[in-house]
Amino acid sequence: MSKHQLEVGRPASGKRRLKDLLLQKDNRFCADCGAPDPKWASANIGVFICLKCCGVHRSLGTHISKVLSVTLDDWSGDEIDAMVEVGGNSSANAINEAFIPEGYAKPGPDASHDERAQFIRAKYELQEFLKPGLQIVSLQSGKSSLQSSSSRKIVDSFQSNSSHHSEGMVEFIGLLKVKVIKGTNLAIRDMMSSDPYVVLTLGQQTVRTTTIKSNLNPVWNEEQMLSVPHHYGPLKLQVFDHDTFSSDDIMGEAEVDLQPLIQSAMAFGDAGMFGSMQIGKWLKSHDNALVNDSTVNIVDGRVKQEMSLKLQNVESGGLDLELEWMPLDQ
Ligand SMILES: [Zn+2]
Repeated sequence: MSKHQLEVGRPASGKRRLKDLLLQKDNRFCADCGAPDPKWASANIGVFICLKCCGVHRSLGTHISKVLSVTLDDWSGDEIDAMVEVGGNSSANAINEAFIPEGYAKPGPDASHDERAQFIRAKYELQEFLKPGLQIVSLQSGKSSLQSSSSRKIVDSFQSNSSHHSEGMVEFIGLLKVKVIKGTNLAIRDMMSSDPYVVLTLGQQTVRTTTIKSNLNPVWNEEQMLSVPHHYGPLKLQVFDHDTFSSDDIMGEAEVDLQPLIQSAMAFGDAGMFGSMQIGKWLKSHDNALVNDSTVNIVDGRVKQEMSLKLQNVESGGLDLELEWMPLDQ
């Protein structure tokens, strides 16, 4: 088995590409503690780290972090591709440290082993600092349809969807921004109230809002981003009651037909060319969740659609949303 043979024909040698990436400014410091001149990397997470942090990464197990030496280990083409795809420490931290609580002290280069270990576990194993929408859904809810997606998968699909138009066989035609505005008169699932959160599913992608404690009329005003594949189905919404000690209870669901939004947006092309106007409509009917007809409008050059939904398969509850269509290639 000749390794050299395999490398023939690669545009730039793997070692070279890895070295170039390491020379990138943000990669001159450990992604976790900021120590200068990191010589190690986590090949699956896509970060360069120092020797001390490397020790902690190794203790997490290779299913969480696969540690390699930049200079001593043999890297496979796939491992190098994965590092290049993540784009370096800044890009990785933009996701893995997106929501570090205010006042939280990140360990410095001289931090003790315990401080370092605590932070690295929180960051990668527990994923405490991810954007709420990227967190694991299966941990909070026992629903089988959501069980299969590990959080690392969700993060990966988010990263690649946002930087490329296509990933494997799936081609994306645009991005859907979903603002979950509020819920009204939601069902009671605990003694007196509920701790609701909303799960949004489009094709293989799943994102969720934060949980709002003891509130049947929660206001989220949270924006989530989903990639829309060429053959898209409805956007599915499920409201759950967060339960600390048992699996989460469902508090209703609804489906949104995305065709009126996307088809009218595509018919008009560059929305920036038009003034504010109505360009489409999704009509209320007996077999959809709409409370009223929902219009698609160009507002300040953006294609938006507001809607009020009546939650289905539940005794009560409604959800207000705003969708925005963001086409690719324009
Ligand atoms: Zn470090």
